[in-house]
Amino acid sequence: MKKRSIETVDVRGKRVVVRVDFNVPFADGSISDDSRIRESLPTIRYLSKHGAKTILISHLGRPKGKVVESLRLEPVATRLTQLLETTVQSSQDLTGPNVQHRVTSLKDGQILLLENSRFDPGEEANSPELAQSLAGLGDIFVLDAFGAAHRAHASTTGIASYLPTYAGFLMVKELNALTRITQRPARPLAAVLGGAKVSDKLTVLDGLLDHVNLLLIGGGMANTFLLAAGFEVGSSLVEPDLLDQASRLVEKASARDIDLLIPDDVATGLSLDDDHPTVVSAERVQPDHAIYDIGPRTIQQYIDRVRNAQTVFWNGPMGVFERPAFATGTERIASAVAALDAYTVVGGGDSLAAISKYRLQDRIDHLSTGGGASLEFVAGQTLPGVAVILDESA
Ligand code: ADP
Ligand code: MG
Repeated sequence: MKKRSIETVDVRGKRVVVRVDFNVPFADGSISDDSRIRESLPTIRYLSKHGAKTILISHLGRPKGKVVESLRLEPVATRLTQLLETTVQSSQDLTGPNVQHRVTSLKDGQILLLENSRFDPGEEANSPELAQSLAGLGDIFVLDAFGAAHRAHASTTGIASYLPTYAGFLMVKELNALTRITQRPARPLAAVLGGAKVSDKLTVLDGLLDHVNLLLIGGGMANTFLLAAGFEVGSSLVEPDLLDQASRLVEKASARDIDLLIPDDVATGLSLDDDHPTVVSAERVQPDHAIYDIGPRTIQQYIDRVRNAQTVFWNGPMGVFERPAFATGTERIASAVAALDAYTVVGGGDSLAAISKYRLQDRIDHLSTGGGASLEFVAGQTLPGVAVILDESA
């Protein structure tokens, strides 16, 4: 279903509340990858140029309903100011009289960034009070935070209950690109999955198996599958509660003739500081070691298999690529996907960081700002933060 974009409404002089996704990675106190901020520029520039009073809302990290000094959005406002070459005001609060005052003083074209929405416990609880209070700041609402569209939170779906809601340019771009995977994709369709948010992602795989022809599993996610296969995983990141689920997925894949591959060998270490990985077959992980990357045999196997794909969706690094000793799997698989003629989509904050680290941005067809969101979309789920946007026919 096509969604109504901000271009279909007159925004001049209006107070426009925009939910953006500024959940960017930080290293040593500064922004290490500003892709998500850059992706939101078209919407913000458009609104400012067309005389809207723009009120930006985003979350950052997982402060769990409390103020965490290191997760303030001030550095994001600074970066945004540089990128837009125009001042972006920032507020130390999300709600309250100070915010109302700041909004009332905005002139046409000016931009205000509110404080981290997850400092308020009402955000993740989707509290109607918080949603109403944020909605009260604006005349219309724009959803551009595709990366947060899989969550029904106060600043995403909540506000949409009170204001007419439009899609920003990033949202439109994401929906168009990902629909190429969900609707009549060129086949074979391959998904490459890894990363650390295993519990969030594993439950989505069931739906994914209804669509893909090939599923390659690496990263932290693979460990749960290895444990389910009866292998020792030592001190690896695992989700013991999801073992049955992992086994069921393997059965479903085999019943449907879908190739679901888990690592055949792995790179392990005593800790992440281990500079010399121990490479072993997947069934020979030592109890005091943890799996931090896929092994060389697996890398070759995955590259050989993905080569035939006509469409590839990738979410989640194959290993702890932030550590040079455990970056090989991610770098090699990323390079292989980038070299394909297939339609390629990579999603997820950390996955995008890896793509830019290896300078492959220009060789991927679509870089999705959503990790969980793109995965759920590709798995055929209706994202709450997309459902609330007005349909084009409305
Ligand atoms: P994305 O942001 O792309 O959606 P995630 O947030 O799910 O991906 O996971 C990214 C993180 O997963 C990276 O920081 C990486 O270090 C970590 N990771 C990958 N493989 C492993 C592993 N085997 N053990 C622990 N962490 C891992
Ligand atoms: Mg991540």
